[in-house]
Amino acid sequence: MPLVPLRLVLDHAAENNYGVGAFNVNNMEQIQAIMEAAKETDSPVIVQASRGARSYSQDNYLRHLMLAASELYPEIPVVMHQDHGNSPTTCFSAIKYGFSSVMMDGSLMDDAKTPSSFDYNVGVTREVVQVAHSMGVSVEGEIGCLGQVGHAPVAPKPGTSKPHDADLEKEPGDTDGHDLSLEKEPGDTDGHAPTSSTGGMDSSHLTDPDEAEQFVAATKVDALAVAIGTSHGAYKFKHKPTGEVLKMTLIEEIHRRLPNTHLVMHGSSSVPEDLQEIIRKYGGKMEETYGVPVSEIQRGIKHGVRKINVDTDCRMAITGAIRKVFAENPKAFDPRDYMKPARDAMRQVVIARMTAFGQAGNASKMRAAGLVR
Ligand SMILES: [Zn+2]
Repeated sequence: MPLVPLRLVLDHAAENNYGVGAFNVNNMEQIQAIMEAAKETDSPVIVQASRGARSYSQDNYLRHLMLAASELYPEIPVVMHQDHGNSPTTCFSAIKYGFSSVMMDGSLMDDAKTPSSFDYNVGVTREVVQVAHSMGVSVEGEIGCLGQVGHAPVAPKPGTSKPHDADLEKEPGDTDGHDLSLEKEPGDTDGHAPTSSTGGMDSSHLTDPDEAEQFVAATKVDALAVAIGTSHGAYKFKHKPTGEVLKMTLIEEIHRRLPNTHLVMHGSSSVPEDLQEIIRKYGGKMEETYGVPVSEIQRGIKHGVRKINVDTDCRMAITGAIRKVFAENPKAFDPRDYMKPARDAMRQVVIARMTAFGQAGNASKMRAAGLVR
């Protein structure tokens, strides 16, 4: 089956009240892990690549790996999504390489770190929507600013709609796909060292429901990323998040106003304790940290969240598995000795998320409904 647009999958998810995990990839094994998980759970899937991932793997490799996935798993509807496109140019090059969905993140300027104005965001996003829709490609926009712990909020610059952290050298983000530069690999969340004292974000970073409404009306995006207190990377919260730092009520408010817009939660890894433990047990260093509980994501899914970005959990599964092999078998040097367990560990995480988000069992329903061939 050819790659399908994001809109098709999220419309089905909305009609049937489920969410769809969007998993980041950089290489073949990650794509294989996701596709095997999708097959086992009968799930439609969203595979996404950040700018850094595209740079790391090269577009041609990525394109053909995804074509291979759609050939090998013809029964699975697959979306290939550009995560955090920083400019229309980036989105258009993704479309050229066969992506069926793009995110135009106009909440920042094209350097992916300078806060933009609302008008700028509307302008670039609308430009991408016009081109993408004419080619059957879906568009995700972002309004509000995803945060990171440990950075004190700064006052908004005059003329900017959003008070982003000005000192986000390294990115708001990163792990779930933002990258500040093509050299610096996404995932460089190291910028967000576990030095947080805030355990959350200042509310001034959160999505304003009024702006969200205006933005959707002006741009006609298919999906909207909202900032509700999550951040990218492993170090999201110092303590188990409460409603004070993770504003699920804001999701509910935005959904009330935009019942027909698919909401996207970024930075939604759960950073499970058992994966942290495996990494520590086999020599890794991870400070105590908390992610977004799956139960909170499920609450979001009841209120319009349809796409849930997960990257860190998959990275942790891979790293833990590789560390374990090296610790237990120092003689191993065949990459398959550690890449197979790594791939399997990621597959298990993806299966768990697909099941929890409710997308499991829906690939065949989409086919039965005639939505995909
Ligand atoms: Zn993101």
